Amino acid sequence: MKVFTEKRPLKAYLSAIKSEKKSIGFVPTMGALHAGHLSLIEAAQKKNDIVVVSIFVNPTQFDKEEDLVNYPKTYDKDKQMLESIACDVLFYPSVKEIYKDNISSNHFDFDGLEHQMEGKFRDGHFNGVGTIVKTLFEIVKPNVAYFGQKDFQQLQIIKKLVKKHHLNLKIKGCPIYREEDGLAMSSRNVRLNLELRKAAPFIYKTLKKARKKFKTKSAEKVVSWVENKFKKHPLLDLEYFTIADEKTLETLIHKESDKKYRAFIAVFAGDIRLIDNIKLKQS
Ligand code: AMP
Repeated sequence: MKVFTEKRPLKAYLSAIKSEKKSIGFVPTMGALHAGHLSLIEAAQKKNDIVVVSIFVNPTQFDKEEDLVNYPKTYDKDKQMLESIACDVLFYPSVKEIYKDNISSNHFDFDGLEHQMEGKFRDGHFNGVGTIVKTLFEIVKPNVAYFGQKDFQQLQIIKKLVKKHHLNLKIKGCPIYREEDGLAMSSRNVRLNLELRKAAPFIYKTLKKARKKFKTKSAEKVVSWVENKFKKHPLLDLEYFTIADEKTLETLIHKESDKKYRAFIAVFAGDIRLIDNIKLKQS
């Protein structure tokens, strides 16, 4: 595996690859890699000649300094994992390499997608995401970039970014990878103590029950059922549970039979924020 910490030599290397008409698959990550990340890389390997993975904990997408400081960083282990699955290229830049001396976001208009859910609770988050993803796309110039449905709102926002800025690449959304007990894999899971780790699968269990209820009940009823479940939970604090249109991410008020809906959730387990989502069916 080739490791680059600077964009200039990476660009030179990749432009030689491109001139050989080889396709480049790209998987941007913030490191602390787990099997969910690896599933994206494997999907990229199946369809491309070369796969580039980036590891960059992007400061501008964190609204709380302590969240950034506490974000797990496991570079040596990550590198070993990438080598073990024969990843071709790792890009591991410093903050200075990406932002020079100006650590700030550009402002993006994602047609309202950015004001829903995560956008309501994480100030400036999607401007930070848009800034780093666009920058990385400009450096790597991939044919296809892979993102997890675990961060479904982010996935829709990246698709919008590509469309609105006429970027020349495809975006592929990949399924949520889960632990055996259903907990969505996340870099943050390693921060859960034993008690919280045992409690956390409640999130997906509740999502699955909500999915079942949604077939016969209104969105309002399902939302209040979920809110009540969490009120009674001694360890997990619900930040939001929303049922939304998959495309616009607007909160569902009245079901329409031709629309696709998804349930989205954010929960605090102690100070660790976990998110998940599930596709819904109307019947
Ligand atoms: P992160 O390192 O958390 O920024 O995630 C990097 C990419 O991996 C994003 O596209 C995430 O949506 C994706 N990802 C993270 N966790 C999972 C998971 N459990 N299943 C599938 N994709 C995931």
